[in-house]
Amino acid sequence: MKENHLMKAMVLRGPGELALDDVALPRLGAGQVLVRVTHSGVCGTDLKIFNGQIPVRYPLIMGHEMIGVVVEGASNDGIRTGDRVVIDPFFNCGICFHCRVGQTSLCPNGVLAGRDVNGGFAEYCAAPASHVFRLPDSIDNRTAALLQVMTTCLHAQRLAKPALDESVVVLGLGVTGQLHVQLAKAAGAHPVIGVSRSSFKNELARKLGADSTLLAGQDVADKILETTHGRGADLIIETTGMIASLPDAIRMVRAGGRILMFGIITAKQGALPFYQLYFKELVLINARAAKGEDFQSSIDLVDRGTVHLKPLITHVTPLEELKTAIGMLDSNVDDRLKIVMDHT
Ligand SMILES: [Zn+2]
Ligand SMILES: [Zn+2]
Repeated sequence: MKENHLMKAMVLRGPGELALDDVALPRLGAGQVLVRVTHSGVCGTDLKIFNGQIPVRYPLIMGHEMIGVVVEGASNDGIRTGDRVVIDPFFNCGICFHCRVGQTSLCPNGVLAGRDVNGGFAEYCAAPASHVFRLPDSIDNRTAALLQVMTTCLHAQRLAKPALDESVVVLGLGVTGQLHVQLAKAAGAHPVIGVSRSSFKNELARKLGADSTLLAGQDVADKILETTHGRGADLIIETTGMIASLPDAIRMVRAGGRILMFGIITAKQGALPFYQLYFKELVLINARAAKGEDFQSSIDLVDRGTVHLKPLITHVTPLEELKTAIGMLDSNVDDRLKIVMDHT
């Protein structure tokens, strides 16, 4: 192990106060492994923690999308020193009601690395051995940093269950929208229609398998009705997290259809056509985080080439540039998708 027991980390000392610092190496708890982080992804949750919208205890090392190499600790099921792994950052307790009935993502005692405990924007990160998953050689380090995001999409689709020949509309084609398009296609859905205000993102979605795309704005609901026998789509996947997007979703979904509310809506109020929810007998599905099972499946889907993560990376920057990277999330840029931090 490192002799001085110090490591470099990006430390958040208060809202907006983020800087590179030397801090103590994580101390390993029972059953934990130490991972030397090589790459991590930045996401909207980091932005909300950074600017204080999500309250945390300071100082905090953010980051919940990290991959690296196990340098200490080993598990019974064969995780060894030297293994390349992705970390499942939601450390559930394993013994509560929800964990015992298999709803591990809802564990009330669970902690999210990078929010409730120190996370991955550092040289090293500690994680339970049960929460690291070995990576195959076919997935390079940068690409692997997107696996955690993919698990949240996979978890959501396991709940929404897009089926063979079902029409699916994906509203918003950021990183998660592009993943939802690919997963819906993999499930056999048809047509899968992507909607974005960015022609760059629309084009990418078509390359990744969308049957068609529409520019967000007027007429989208009408066009969806036209292409779905006048009925509306079987499943709408909302990824923008904006309440304003829901009335459209309710309009373009068929009677008896489903709306997957994937985008996290933090607003506490908003207008919805509630009567339509009743009249169309709609099912609203919410999904939170992911489960352990989603990690191995995501790794396998990428390994087999069913889902492509690499085209979703538009920026790779050194860890020291984290503040700039988070700042980029705050601006609406049409051709920005995932920003990956390089720790090496
Ligand atoms: Zn994230
Ligand atoms: Zn639990």
